[in-house]
Amino acid sequence: MRLLEERIRKDGEAVNETVLKVGSFINHQVDSAFMDALGRDFAQHFAGKGITKVFTIESSGIAPALMAAKHLNVPMVILKKQTSKILEGNVYQTRVMSFTKGTSYELTLFADYIGKDDRVLLIDDFLANGEAAMGAARLISQAGASLEGIGILIEKSFQKGRSRLEEAGYHVYSQARVARLAEGVIEFLPEDGTDTGE
Ligand code: 5GP
Repeated sequence: MRLLEERIRKDGEAVNETVLKVGSFINHQVDSAFMDALGRDFAQHFAGKGITKVFTIESSGIAPALMAAKHLNVPMVILKKQTSKILEGNVYQTRVMSFTKGTSYELTLFADYIGKDDRVLLIDDFLANGEAAMGAARLISQAGASLEGIGILIEKSFQKGRSRLEEAGYHVYSQARVARLAEGVIEFLPEDGTDTGE
């Protein structure tokens, strides 16, 4: 999606070979009109999949997920990052390693907000090693629901997330695919996804 690539070129900051900062329009300050456009694009891409709920992982996926849910006319559910196991109540939990923090958390979903007939679209801001998305997929499968697609704003294609998710059988749609990062350098894959090696 050219719109997001252009915005990353303009306002993104490559900190090093692995971390991209987009705090001025996604992660810290949020450009609401831009999130609406991204949400509409996700809704169009996943139209026809019979999506009943949009899931995201707190916190940076919430803005685009809410917009996608609005355009699909379905609820959005926020998967919570808890520091410890919740022992009471009917919850699904799974342990996930955080890419940016290097620590782990219990991804948590109250059973009230998912049913076995749900067809879920998962939206997240970044795809790195796929830990967060695989964790969300485990919760959805624990509930007996189906994960119909995964929508990502920024995929770092040089990390293993996409191949892990595709090997597990999930359909991944990324609005921007970053081929390479270095301090001050951001390169994208061409739209057909082939890596030119430039
Ligand atoms: P994964 O679980 O795929 O390994 O990592 C994805 C999660 O880590 C995302 O939910 C995102 O919050 C965070 N993340 C991964 N890479 C980056 C990055 O380059 N920049 C930012 N801001 N967050 C990232």
